Amino acid sequence: MSDSPSLSELDAVAQFARRHVGLTEQAQQRMLGVLGYDSIGALMDAAVPGGIKSADTLDLPSPISESAVAALARELAGQNKPGETLIGLGYYGTVTPPVIRRNVLEDPSWYTAYTPYQPEISQGRLEALINFQTMVGDLTGLPTANASLLDEGTAAAEAMTLVRRANKSASGPFVLDADALPQTIEVVRTRAEAMGIDVVVADLTQGLPDGDLCGVLVQYPGASGRVLDPRAVIEETHARGAQAVVAADLLALALLEAPGALGADVVVGTTQRFGVPLFYGGPHAGYMAVREGLERHLPGRLVGVSVDSQGRPAYRLALQTREQHIRRDKATSNICTAQVLLAVVASMYAVYHGPEGIRDIAYRTHRYAAVLAGALRAAGLEVAHEEFFDTLTVRVAGRAAEVVAAARSLGLHLRSVDADTVGISTSETTTRSTLSALLRAFGVEADLDEVDRTTADALPGALRRSTDFLTHEVFHSHRSETQMLRYLRTLSDRDYGLDRGMIPLGSCTMKLNATAEMEPISLPGFADLHPFVPAEDARGYARLVGELEGWLAEVTGYDRVSIQPNAGSQGELAGLLAIRGYHRANGDTQREICLIPASAHGTNAASAVMAGMKVVVVKTAADGTVDLDHLRSLCDKHAETLSAIMVTYPSTHGAYEDTIGELCEVVHSHGGQVYVDGANLNALLGYAKPGEFGGDVSHLNLHKTFCIPHGGGGPGVGPVAVRAHLAPYLPTHGQHPNPEQQTGIGPVSAAPYGSAGILPISWAYIRLMGAAGLVEATAAAVLSANYVAARLREHFPVLYTGHGGLVAHECILDLRQITKETGVSVDDVAKRLIDYGFHAPTMSFPVAGTLMVEPTESEDLGEIDRFIDAMIAIKGEIDRVGAGEWSVEESPLRGAPHTTRMLAGEWARGYDRGTAVFPSGVDADKYWPPVGRIDNTYGDRNLVCSCPSPEAFAE
Ligand SMILES: *Cc1c(COP(=O)(O)O)cnc(C)c1O
Repeated sequence: MSDSPSLSELDAVAQFARRHVGLTEQAQQRMLGVLGYDSIGALMDAAVPGGIKSADTLDLPSPISESAVAALARELAGQNKPGETLIGLGYYGTVTPPVIRRNVLEDPSWYTAYTPYQPEISQGRLEALINFQTMVGDLTGLPTANASLLDEGTAAAEAMTLVRRANKSASGPFVLDADALPQTIEVVRTRAEAMGIDVVVADLTQGLPDGDLCGVLVQYPGASGRVLDPRAVIEETHARGAQAVVAADLLALALLEAPGALGADVVVGTTQRFGVPLFYGGPHAGYMAVREGLERHLPGRLVGVSVDSQGRPAYRLALQTREQHIRRDKATSNICTAQVLLAVVASMYAVYHGPEGIRDIAYRTHRYAAVLAGALRAAGLEVAHEEFFDTLTVRVAGRAAEVVAAARSLGLHLRSVDADTVGISTSETTTRSTLSALLRAFGVEADLDEVDRTTADALPGALRRSTDFLTHEVFHSHRSETQMLRYLRTLSDRDYGLDRGMIPLGSCTMKLNATAEMEPISLPGFADLHPFVPAEDARGYARLVGELEGWLAEVTGYDRVSIQPNAGSQGELAGLLAIRGYHRANGDTQREICLIPASAHGTNAASAVMAGMKVVVVKTAADGTVDLDHLRSLCDKHAETLSAIMVTYPSTHGAYEDTIGELCEVVHSHGGQVYVDGANLNALLGYAKPGEFGGDVSHLNLHKTFCIPHGGGGPGVGPVAVRAHLAPYLPTHGQHPNPEQQTGIGPVSAAPYGSAGILPISWAYIRLMGAAGLVEATAAAVLSANYVAARLREHFPVLYTGHGGLVAHECILDLRQITKETGVSVDDVAKRLIDYGFHAPTMSFPVAGTLMVEPTESEDLGEIDRFIDAMIAIKGEIDRVGAGEWSVEESPLRGAPHTTRMLAGEWARGYDRGTAVFPSGVDADKYWPPVGRIDNTYGDRNLVCSCPSPEAFAE
């Protein structure tokens, strides 16, 4: 016998949970002391209502170490066979320049940032996004582009609804090009069906179908490779009072005339092939650009130029009043989290290559296709279209399967269109050896140099691009890697991410995104796989998705999970479509009322409208809970037509409500379904399961609870979890690797598994934490939030508490009385926090005039105390305003944030420089904002959404 600890005891010490949770054992004891509890168990017992508590521990695999997870991830990645992809259909081989891969995609200063709602601390990514908008605007030939959509399929669906919104008098169907990408047709159909919009798929080479129409979508070039000159269709569309949408391949636009110059009203597509890995289908940044006059209808976020307090140009999100947070069921779209990180990658690809570089890549891609067509034709094969950009449709008389199989054995993935037809798309990664292997697969012998010499270009002469693009200096100034590296560093230095300090945003759960979770996404087996490869070449993903969906079902108490939705908003839509499908299958087509509490997130109402439902708002009781009496009366009133209620649990007020069980019963007894918005799952994991306490369906936000980084505003994953009776109505996809999931409700994302490429992050998190680790994390998150509430309560009233007088994982600080008495607004406090080196909490959601703080489990006590001390110091400054020592206008609160530039000039303020930039507790390592407070209204009155000229920044 030895006294040494056992091996399993030693292994337990290495547990990852100790790295993920920021609070040490001693810190937890100190915090519990402040709260008056002697153990964390006692705190959780008091906080979580007994009625919702789960009886069993989570059935999850035991935690493993970071190196064991890395090995397992490599094993799974190794079961995927990316080969060389020539399948096309919106997903292409591309080279992520290593300087961009390592210094954007793999760099926490970019990927841990939040959506740029606080523009003064987001100037770097806002500049990258305005570069993105300029790039898309230039290439499409339209003046205004947004800062990304979720993918090409959903961008097309958004274009359909935009066209209807912008032109209410146009009735009739939305016409889709039969040569559109198959998944685009499917996504548009899913959306249109729910919203009662007719969709007609038509061969546009024959002109438009007869009768009324509201809009048309032309794919340019088409899925078959054909390049239809869209002008005739666009002209006829306009003549019939409708709007023309062009879904365009961005790389092709380097050689083909811009759709905007051809008359398109809206252009959509994906920016994937601008350096973004295939990722088995996503995440990739979709794009949308519109003509003049439609900018106020644009869905998603739009970056614009404004001025700061010093009159200097500064970026911020424009026209925010269009956003769902304010518009709710009047919103233009339900999109919230978008694809910022991928938009930054694509924009940097354009910055690095510039117009000549992009043109060269496009032309080389085209030449490979042209030479291949030449060789195949010389061997007597029929290639369908005379003119094309990168895609060939080859007729092989019954031999398609054989050719595709031969190619596969040579490591190439081709597209099998039908028994007689093979599709091939070349790309930036196509080489001479790709062509040689391809010819072998077709059984063709050719002298490539000879074919090259004798084959002309196959671009349509009438559509050769004559308009300029990427003319702005930024696309001409960073050609060397040194310049590029420094540009990236300059931009990321301007931003505040989790690598600098805590981001206590309520409802957003800005927790650790561990390096061990992030690393696997760069493995070629995960990063380079095309979403439509045969199932047997994606076995690693199948296993990973199967495990992840199973674990998510276990932790939520539901029966089935689909990880297809690529944001929380899309999970909401998918969940509501499942409810709709269920009611319809029961013959209850009249059930279309969706009850939504007044405090709900704006996406809820917007999603309900998209699912074809009518929104009815349920009042909030004085204590912040859902008003059950009002709920009962609404259920009685709408008993015949009630479809669902959407509630967030714990509520967006950050409190565990005792009444959730009763709420579910009332709705169920009136024939309605209960949708539990799972954005706040970080307060429940391991303690309670929505599928057990009354939910029929939930979406989760893997970019909140499950560690996918926010990326500065996306990517995200919004899995939808359902009880068994809703399982038949989960999203499907025509090209799903599992044949059983190919038909049904239809897809809500362009790819079968949505943003598959970032699923390894959440998979790794659960595998590293195990059941006990997740429980520990939840308790630490709740402890931290209650500690913040307890320490700040005497300075700022905490608006709502729930069970036991405790909050859940976040707390709302009520500034309304302070604002009334002193004029100091939540905005002033948020901007002053920047001077103290912090990112602001969530502002004015869910209650105007308040700040919602969510520390998460990953922050250590030192950081939490630093934040609390900053808030207390700010309260001291507010008190000086209250006492008349400063007017609010002359206070450091209104003057905030303060830049280094301000220090250098004249100083004519009612407080000194030290008070401005080194208030109590702040040292020289603090974050310095690059701009002063930004004027939002100025920017909206003078809307500029592409790169401003360099002169604008001159002294
Ligand atoms: C974040 C959030 C959503 C929306 O999720 P996205 O991923 O941004 O689309 C919905 N509901 C609540 C309560 C949220 O906090």
